[in-house]
Amino acid sequence: MAIDPRLVSALHLQALRHAALPAEERAAHAAFQTSTLEALLDGAYDGDLTIGELRRHGDLGLGTFDALDGEMVVLDGEVWRARADGTVVRAADDARTPFAVVTPFAADATVAIEAAMGQEELLAQAVRAMPARPSVADAALAIRFDGRLEAVHARSVPPQPRPYPPLAEAAATQRTFELGPAEGSLVGFAFPAWAGGVELPGAHLHAITADRARGGHVLHARVGPGVLRVAAVTDLHLELPPGVELPAAGLDADRAATLDRLEND
Ligand SMILES: [Zn+2]
Repeated sequence: MAIDPRLVSALHLQALRHAALPAEERAAHAAFQTSTLEALLDGAYDGDLTIGELRRHGDLGLGTFDALDGEMVVLDGEVWRARADGTVVRAADDARTPFAVVTPFAADATVAIEAAMGQEELLAQAVRAMPARPSVADAALAIRFDGRLEAVHARSVPPQPRPYPPLAEAAATQRTFELGPAEGSLVGFAFPAWAGGVELPGAHLHAITADRARGGHVLHARVGPGVLRVAAVTDLHLELPPGVELPAAGLDADRAATLDRLEND
């Protein structure tokens, strides 16, 4: 495999095709993912995994849906779809996903957040709370915040027409909106930059309001007070749809530039 060796050793990467997947697998500290960030950036918006199948591998996470039709929030085993206008509907079990990451969430650390803070500070708090004290650059974490969403600048995307455009073009159709002030949750992951190509580097968080009315992919957030829960991710089980291969080490400059534009709206 021409991928970063840290993905194999530090994150215990295991890649499988759909037919080889165990029907149900819920190992503590294991994240399960379908497809790769690189494939998504390249316009692979049809998945071979259903939401019902995804739910058997974890109860917290995020992703998107076939045709890039909205942002996925997985919380307490329920799967929600935040549409382009930020409104949320429950996702059907027979819907499909071209990219999603879930984990059977069990917190290693719980932190009381006393006052509102930005997402960088939230991530720093998450890292500091871990018994193993990873550096921010190397941390692989599952993250859940519940409490006050003081201000959340979020985005979602409308369904894309075929032939699917690459994400750099699809992003032109994305819509941004504000969530909050409201009660709600942030869910997601932090992955090291060296997992780029497979994962979005850094913190990748999706938001949903407590009334499950609104949500989206977090661009900027200021949250608190509330409760932050963090779990280490030590294993990454990757399901590769047909035609999707493990990416070469890291992201190339073009894809990295696309990502930068997408995340710094
Ligand atoms: Zn996202």
